Amino acid sequence: MRSKNFRFVFTLYFIIFGITIALFGSLVGYKIQMIDIQERIDKNAEEVAFNKKNNLFKPIIDKMDAMVFALSKSQILFDYLQSPDSHNTLAMDQLFLTITMSDKQVMQARFIDAEGKEKIRVDRLNESSLPFIVDSAKLQDKSTRDYFQIVRTLPNETIWHSKLDLNIENGKVEVPFRPTIRIATPIYHNGTFKGIVIVNMLTNNLLSSIRTSAVFEHYIIDKEGNIIIAPDDTLSWSKYTGKQNELTDIFPNETSKILSGTYTGKDFYTFPLNDVLNNDDDAILILKPKAQYEHSLVLSNIQSAILVVILSILVSIPLALYASITPSKLQKALLVSNSELKRFAGIIDKYVVTVTTKTNSIITAVSSAFEKVTGYDRDELIGRKINLIKHPNTSQQFHNALWRTIENGEKWQGEVKNIRKDGHEYWLEQTIIPLQNDNGEITSYVSVATDITDKKELEKISVIDQLTGIFNRRKLNDSLQSEVNKAHRYHRPLSVLIMDIDHFKRINDTYGHQCGDFALTTVAALLSKHIRDSDIVGRYGGEEFMVICPETQITAAVSVGEKLREAIAQYDFGIIGHITISIGVAELKEEDTLETIVKNSDNCLYTAKHNGRNQVVAES
Ligand code: GH3
Ligand code: MG
Ligand code: MG
Repeated sequence: MRSKNFRFVFTLYFIIFGITIALFGSLVGYKIQMIDIQERIDKNAEEVAFNKKNNLFKPIIDKMDAMVFALSKSQILFDYLQSPDSHNTLAMDQLFLTITMSDKQVMQARFIDAEGKEKIRVDRLNESSLPFIVDSAKLQDKSTRDYFQIVRTLPNETIWHSKLDLNIENGKVEVPFRPTIRIATPIYHNGTFKGIVIVNMLTNNLLSSIRTSAVFEHYIIDKEGNIIIAPDDTLSWSKYTGKQNELTDIFPNETSKILSGTYTGKDFYTFPLNDVLNNDDDAILILKPKAQYEHSLVLSNIQSAILVVILSILVSIPLALYASITPSKLQKALLVSNSELKRFAGIIDKYVVTVTTKTNSIITAVSSAFEKVTGYDRDELIGRKINLIKHPNTSQQFHNALWRTIENGEKWQGEVKNIRKDGHEYWLEQTIIPLQNDNGEITSYVSVATDITDKKELEKISVIDQLTGIFNRRKLNDSLQSEVNKAHRYHRPLSVLIMDIDHFKRINDTYGHQCGDFALTTVAALLSKHIRDSDIVGRYGGEEFMVICPETQITAAVSVGEKLREAIAQYDFGIIGHITISIGVAELKEEDTLETIVKNSDNCLYTAKHNGRNQVVAES
């Protein structure tokens, strides 16, 4: 459960991290994109303006210029000026007709003489009809018209462009509006002004194709601030419709800046058209980004940012789940081992008797098992000295030896008798380990012990020696006492043999304690094997044994001793080699007690040792 929680939390963190990064990335991306969008719009505006000027206006204007120039330089015009007879007039008509026919947008081509009288005129009613030569009777006087007045003053070979204007017929604006541009040049013959060649071009198509763009709203205004072209066509030609104020509505606060050419803002873009139109309008093309275009750019930017976030989430979920597997496994393993550890710690606390003291023997920690075995509560133990549990019978010598060992930094092992809170005694088999700090100074002692009180109790009532399996000292004493009693009562002989392994210490020192134990067990078995059924054998002490021989006088007892000595001496103890024993023998005398007969045989043993060992000595 906890592992699942962990995995969930880990995954959550991972995802949140992923989303944060994604959001941050998107935000940065969004900002960059927004700057980019502005740059894109700027660039787009430049491109659109360049295109409109150079690919729409310029080719048409250039073509018209070329047309007018060609007319002005033609041999037919030259001949006509030399002699305007009917033949040359006809040629002129044909020339102007041909020129007009060459382009649908040319609505009129004329030659007006130096007095302002139309001399040659070709008209076209609309773009889909053919041009025709206007009858000489219908030719008009144009001497007062501004274009005539202007062009007549221009130097030779100058091409003049009129303003972008509506067609005016007989002094009136033609309805529906026919946006027109006039291109004219003065004609000189032999240095004398002879009139003008003038071509009217319909700019309907041109202006409507200017207006089309998905990205920008297009405006063209003249230098007076009149709207020539607007996206809303009802605002176009404001000079004639009286809607001049509209400009300030469309570009509030900016109109004067636009007109003076000082506008630098980013809401729209201005481009002067004079380099292509080259007329008195000083017209300005204004491109205003369409709101929906900006919106769509921003929207697509937001959409791509959202997409990045969603993608990041989608990627981060399986990644997080995958990434969380290993830590969650580790976490699981850790939890398992942690609970195992706790379980073991619990077991140790419950069953292992441990106590920690400072060097001044003040108790700092105890296990529950220690509380149980001592009968004291933890609170009663901590802060007290360890001799609280010391048994009054424990000798000072024992105590000093123990402390000497551990104060030297060595481990001490042994059986200790202590006293419970209720006054009962108990036994611990204790290992005391001194703990040292990094400087090698002892800081505390840890005692790990097992309660061996039961074992000790068992030992008390046991008759068998644990190691060798023969009778123990207590049983020997009991048996000897009853045999002494019997022998005295019935005046029967009784002998006692006490034997001790020679140089047993060497065996322990050379081959180890376990080999020593093995030797003891083997000696016990050999002794048991070689005595009579009526004899009693037992382990009297460390490597001392006793044989009680009822109904046996000293000489027979010595023989028993010899037999046993020989049996041991001849036996092969494996890697230990051969072992010998020394034996002391005593027979019960009338005045003897258990103590004196033991003492007597012990004295004989001493003599046997003294005399060189591996021998039997009897009381003389
Ligand atoms: P000696 O010939 O004078 O008897 O020499 P010794 O080396 O036998 O001298 P001593 O009696 O002083 O030493 C007896 C040794 O026996 C000392 C003790 O460590 C060892 N010992 C006593 N009980 C046991 C036991 O149960 N197992 C083992 N392995 N050694 C024991
Ligand atoms: Mg010995
Ligand atoms: Mg001994």
